Amino acid sequence: MIYLDFHATTPVDPEVFEAMKTYFCEEFGNAASANHQYGWTAQSKVDQCRKTLGQLIGAQGKEIVFTSGATESNNLALFGTAESYKEKGKHIITASTEHKSILDSCTELEKRGFKVTYLPVDSFGRISLDGLLKAITAETILVSIMAANNEIGTLQPLREIGKITREKNIIFHTDAVQGVGYLKLDVEAMNIDLLSFSSHKIYGPKGIGALYVRSQNPRIKLKPLIYGGGHERGLRSGTLNVPGIVGFAKAAELVMKNRDKEFEKVKGLRDKLENFIKSKVDKIKVNGHPTDRLPNNLNMSFEGVDGASLLCEIKELCVSTGSACSSAKIDPSHVLTAIGLPADLAMSTLRLGLGRMTTPEDIENAGKILSSAISTLRA
Ligand code: PMP
Repeated sequence: MIYLDFHATTPVDPEVFEAMKTYFCEEFGNAASANHQYGWTAQSKVDQCRKTLGQLIGAQGKEIVFTSGATESNNLALFGTAESYKEKGKHIITASTEHKSILDSCTELEKRGFKVTYLPVDSFGRISLDGLLKAITAETILVSIMAANNEIGTLQPLREIGKITREKNIIFHTDAVQGVGYLKLDVEAMNIDLLSFSSHKIYGPKGIGALYVRSQNPRIKLKPLIYGGGHERGLRSGTLNVPGIVGFAKAAELVMKNRDKEFEKVKGLRDKLENFIKSKVDKIKVNGHPTDRLPNNLNMSFEGVDGASLLCEIKELCVSTGSACSSAKIDPSHVLTAIGLPADLAMSTLRLGLGRMTTPEDIENAGKILSSAISTLRA
């Protein structure tokens, strides 16, 4: 098997696993137990992890709110802002290519009386800043635009968006799940007020994520989704997943240490794979932005080849058609539709995602398997 689905999830890095171990059976304390050593140890470790996770995005530790993953972070960002700022206005702006955890939350908000503008994207998957400016009204309270797309890897102009939202006094949320592993994000320089990220996309464990919530200039006040013991400054009650948090922070530490090297490595392998396939088969379209794209992303459409049949021919390759998050459905992906791909070409599309463990041999073999499967199916 060759795993090329790193956008869907990543294996836990052995160093991350090692760091987590102690926090299951030995240091098992509840970080909210204020009366004894087990609780204090857990609490102090969690504080240290918060700092590390803050560092990853240029934030302070106290601005990190732990969640179960980015789906929850996105829900908290959207519903939390909407409920808290609805007296100021009931208009939200997002993009048509966002993850379902944003789009479905927006659909629900529309049912609750909010107005949502879904910005269109160009053929590379980028929103237009002019379009954003035009969409803003006196009622707009929130702009939510992702850092990097999970299907086609396209990066959005966060810095420019942040400039606009800050000038207009509108809250800026970004879903940075796919971006944090490769991009140097800085919530201060980019004027980001809320940022979602997730451990299992950066070689940490599943079931733990975070929402960055700006604490000053301006202070963002969200309405919680989950009530209880008042954990996480009242924003997300529930006993903290200490081993998960330890793993998440270790994963972030490894990203900070290796990000630039890893960027170059996966980009080199990705380009090699892209060029190999292009040299072997014709009538291919590479989706996403040619340069402003995640270095590990290769999303390709193969004219005249049915995606499902192709998957059957390449059983050794673990890849995805459309988005893994909605792979139970057979509709063409909403992202590919948004960039203007006709339905038949969208259905002939594979998403390959490289990662930390991908080797040159994997890429060589994947290129051969894929190109020969396409030739066979076309013949
Ligand atoms: N946003 C994006 C862009 C994603 O790729 C994903 C994961 N597929 C999510 C949000 C949801 O993250 P999680 O799996 O942590 O809930």
